Amino acid sequence: MNFQGELLSWYNTHKRDLPWRSTRDPYLVWLSEVMLQQTRVSQGLGYYNRFIETFPTLHSLAAASEQQVLRLWQGLGYYSRARNMHHTARELLNIHGGHFPATAKELEKLRGIGHYTAAAIASICFGEATAVLDGNVARVLARLTAFNQPVDSPAGIKTLRTFANQLIDPDNPADYNQAMMELGALVCTPGNPSCAECPVSSHCLAFQQRNVASFPIKMGKKPPLKISFFYLVICYQVSDTDYIVLRKRSGEGIWKNMYDFPAIESRVELSEEEIFGHFSQLLQTTGTTFVFGNMSPAYTHQLTHRTITAKFLTAICSSKPVLSSDLEAVPVNALSQYPLPRLIEHYLQR
Ligand code: SF4
Repeated sequence: MNFQGELLSWYNTHKRDLPWRSTRDPYLVWLSEVMLQQTRVSQGLGYYNRFIETFPTLHSLAAASEQQVLRLWQGLGYYSRARNMHHTARELLNIHGGHFPATAKELEKLRGIGHYTAAAIASICFGEATAVLDGNVARVLARLTAFNQPVDSPAGIKTLRTFANQLIDPDNPADYNQAMMELGALVCTPGNPSCAECPVSSHCLAFQQRNVASFPIKMGKKPPLKISFFYLVICYQVSDTDYIVLRKRSGEGIWKNMYDFPAIESRVELSEEEIFGHFSQLLQTTGTTFVFGNMSPAYTHQLTHRTITAKFLTAICSSKPVLSSDLEAVPVNALSQYPLPRLIEHYLQR
């Protein structure tokens, strides 16, 4: 009880004033929790505000096209989160009458809502005493208990979840969960925790053992896969309008339904000769003449499990090319309507 009381009293004084803290609307809490996964609050705040200005309600999100939703999400990464939110908004409207289920168990049945998000919505919006457990909270719990298992192993997660659910304040699960997340974000930070300012240091085993730096224990991560992208940027002009050819990505990849350019994807570096040869063949099917520009310098783009190195080769066509069905010629001044991976956005900006 002491632990909960001390934590909540600290939270009431020190919590940041964030827009989603003043609402119990499950749509807004859902959006904030999904948007802020893997994203710093300072970066997510602008996205959150723009998103709710454009889609203030579940109904407005469900009525939007996926392209509009992805465009608004552009730059945040982890685009499956946006696709899943859009899908689930429609499902909530069509199957659940526009209402969110009130329990974590039922919420978890919806696409894109995992244990963490379900616990956050159920506790904050419906008062259910289910504890959240994300990386921040796992780190705090591991230090509090000097937890000797990896926090990212299935057995470690299971034990921490049981412990988290024993520790939650059943009378105020909404604030308790947010207080744990806030403590992990502001005080019990990954690199250099502020133990001297910590409201629960008297309960912390790692602190008492002067061994905070040893926790949390983590399993070794595989190094990211290295992958090379060679992009072909086809440009042409008709009646004073400049066009650029985009490719809509299909399949189940992370950039599904976003736009980039025709590309060769390779695990090994290719010679310029091989790249020019491949793209010459492609361009010869377009029924127009073309000249290549220079190959761009390499752009590096880091994803969670991949390091992408991309080079871009421009080809200027003398007239409108005949394009396959996955390609679309877009006037340059209409590019802002298309959801683009950040890598492509960077290239175009430069
Ligand atoms: Fe984290 Fe230090 Fe507080 Fe322990 S005392 S919970 S390590 S900030």
